[in-house]
Amino acid sequence: MIDSHCHVDFKEYNKNREEVIGRARENLSAIINSGASLGGNRRTLKLQAENPQFIYATLGFHPHNAVKADQNIIEQSLDEIIGNIDQAVAIGETGLDYHNLQGEEPKKRQKQLFERFIDLALQYEKPLVIHARDAEEIALEMVKNKNLNQVIFHCYGGDARTARAIVDEGYYISISTIISFSKHHQKLAAEIPLDNMLTETDSPYLSPFKGRNEPSYVGEVIKEVARVKELTQDEVDRVTEKNAYKVFKL
Ligand SMILES: [Zn+2]
Repeated sequence: MIDSHCHVDFKEYNKNREEVIGRARENLSAIINSGASLGGNRRTLKLQAENPQFIYATLGFHPHNAVKADQNIIEQSLDEIIGNIDQAVAIGETGLDYHNLQGEEPKKRQKQLFERFIDLALQYEKPLVIHARDAEEIALEMVKNKNLNQVIFHCYGGDARTARAIVDEGYYISISTIISFSKHHQKLAAEIPLDNMLTETDSPYLSPFKGRNEPSYVGEVIKEVARVKELTQDEVDRVTEKNAYKVFKL
């Protein structure tokens, strides 16, 4: 099993990060930690250096942070991402999050930064990890026909029609632990072909249980996907893991 998107660098793990990583090592083949800010990218690179062949880094800037961050911090983040580009298995997370966003200005800010990340992924031939909420179709329009190396819609929660359009482009959709308690995500997982699917926890968020999520819970995604697709857990595990190895070139 692979957790293709999580944030083990977050402060939620400060008290017992080693334990959490230890449990992940017992159950998983690899975890992809996604940098979401300047500090997050630095912490992600450190985690990768400390856990070779197990924790892999993607470097980006979350759209939530894009709205509020100082422009200098954004520029510094982009510079550092370029400086560490060889260490990154993908660019992201990046994208558009229009949920509860008021007015056009913050949307414009998110789009401008997203464009720059698209350009980085193109220039350095890296996969692009997209966070899109209430803006999935707009994000898809912005990336398609650009000849990107590969595109992953992480924690996808949009509609089934846009999911089909994403799959038609040959892109990947990552199913998170939200599937444990969301009928909408269960329906989506039933429709999305296994060959275009990845599994993730988005830890520390979206725990299938009470409290904080962690990478070792990604088995809950595999269990639910197997149930809704009427496949064995072994089959779902085998194919989604193979997909992750291929997309991120692990
Ligand atoms: Zn995330």
